[in-house]
Amino acid sequence: MRRRSFCLSALSSLAAAAAIRPRLVDAAGSVLRPTDVEDLRASLAGRLLLPEQPEYDSARKVWNGAFDRKPALIARCSNTNDVVRAVTFARDHQLLIAIRGGGHSFPGHSTCEGGLLIDLTEMDGIRVDAKARTALVQPGVVLGQFDRATQALGLATTMGTVSQTGVGGLTLGGGFGRLSRRFGLACDSLIAADVVSADGRVVTTSVGENSDLLWALRGGGGNFGVVTSLEFQLHTVAAEMHGGLLVFPFTEPRALLRAYADFIAGASDDLFVMFDIVPTPNGRIAALEVCHSGSKAAAERELAGLRKIGKPLQDAVAPATYVALQSSIDKDYPAGRGYYLKSGFIRTITPAVIDTLVDYLDAAPWHRGVASFIQHGGAIARVKPDATAYWHRDAGHTLLLVGTWDEAADAERSTQWSRSGWASLEPHTDGFYVNFMAPDDSQRRVLRTYGPNHARLAAIKKKYDPTNLFKLNANIAPA
Ligand SMILES: Cc1cc2nc3c(=O)[nH]c(=O)nc-3n(C[C@H](O)[C@H](O)[C@H](O)COP(=O)(O)OP(=O)(O)OC[C@H]3O[C@@H](n4cnc5c(N)ncnc54)[C@H](O)[C@@H]3O)c2cc1C
Repeated sequence: MRRRSFCLSALSSLAAAAAIRPRLVDAAGSVLRPTDVEDLRASLAGRLLLPEQPEYDSARKVWNGAFDRKPALIARCSNTNDVVRAVTFARDHQLLIAIRGGGHSFPGHSTCEGGLLIDLTEMDGIRVDAKARTALVQPGVVLGQFDRATQALGLATTMGTVSQTGVGGLTLGGGFGRLSRRFGLACDSLIAADVVSADGRVVTTSVGENSDLLWALRGGGGNFGVVTSLEFQLHTVAAEMHGGLLVFPFTEPRALLRAYADFIAGASDDLFVMFDIVPTPNGRIAALEVCHSGSKAAAERELAGLRKIGKPLQDAVAPATYVALQSSIDKDYPAGRGYYLKSGFIRTITPAVIDTLVDYLDAAPWHRGVASFIQHGGAIARVKPDATAYWHRDAGHTLLLVGTWDEAADAERSTQWSRSGWASLEPHTDGFYVNFMAPDDSQRRVLRTYGPNHARLAAIKKKYDPTNLFKLNANIAPA
């Protein structure tokens, strides 16, 4: 695309004449020329949405209702060429770029105030090759689509636990889920990708080609460009598994957590558990989201041990298809609600972690706060920390405090609930999962997260994005 130069005085009168609302302003404060915007619109196979267009308001909404931002332009890309044009336009006009796949970013990274939103939701094709056991996926595909398409052929690889989440964002940050203890993170099964880098080139990466980039994409997030296709290695998986909700009273929290910690330390790779401590009108409960992907006999044997950590109030763990389990908790995470989380990796659930958490829960009985332990380990831990960008392979769990709200008036209280608890819990953690970043997480925490991989990531960042055009992420400054 032809690059146009700016002339500030001429621009403001042109923009005023064009009556574009709100004004399209680039990072340097210059008003974008309507002709430039029209050129971009004409060059796209997809649509360019401006604030005055009817679709704009629904297109700018993201899953986390805490973020109500208004991009100056939304490029609804239809293909890789559209992405190239959008990246080039943003770079030439110094516009902030937000990238949107499934729109499920906790810290609101897939939207921006002003700037250009590169919206990939309509690039949602998926092709499964049963013979090669691979899946080629466009970046607007969400987990439910992926799981249905692959399971139709008896195949799967690790994806996350809520089916509307985007495959792209999840995989680039790592990607744990019901199968991650068997097959590793989603990024461990990523074998190739196409990326539009900051200079507008389409770079293909695989183990044999530009492999530094593939290494960085496996856990380095959206730092290196816009990924326009992802190829995964798939695995044969039985359709029927055992899973569902197992609920215990939380009246003796320390005893329950200690029993869980003992049990889970010896769990097989077939078992995946998310242990949520959830407030109810009658006090807290422990709600365990369980999936066992082994044989019926193995599942029954291992789940019998899990059931014994307390006296279950509710036991809905039963045979279910993998696809059904993959959407079984969607209803608990509605779009549009406000969410704020703090999280970090822990190796094991130690008595000190239990005491700190229970002390905080006792002191802060806010009715909308959920604490969780998400199990990692297994195949995740068998990959060397420097084999991919995802460093914290030895983490046994992620510990999270999530505050939620439906009314804006509760936003501050919920956020504070999560933040204050984190002040005492953070010393027990080391780094965090980049896809669970909080909007106010410090650069110091980001550095700890990438660990000794950071220097190599910064060098790769310099190669593919030397001016840090892609900065809405757990950001890596170019070396
Ligand atoms: C309800 C819920 C449940 C979750 N459960 C899990 C879980 O079980 N396991 C897990 O691992 N994670 C989980 N997550 C975290 C999830 O992986 C991240 O929020 C992830 O970023 C979502 O991806 P997305 O494409 O939907 O997000 P988006 O908001 O669309 O994107 C988030 C960011 O990812 C980057 N990105 C996305 N697509 C691209 C692309 N094509 N090219 C370059 N960069 C890109 C960009 O930086 C973008 O800002 C969950 C999140 C939510 C909200």
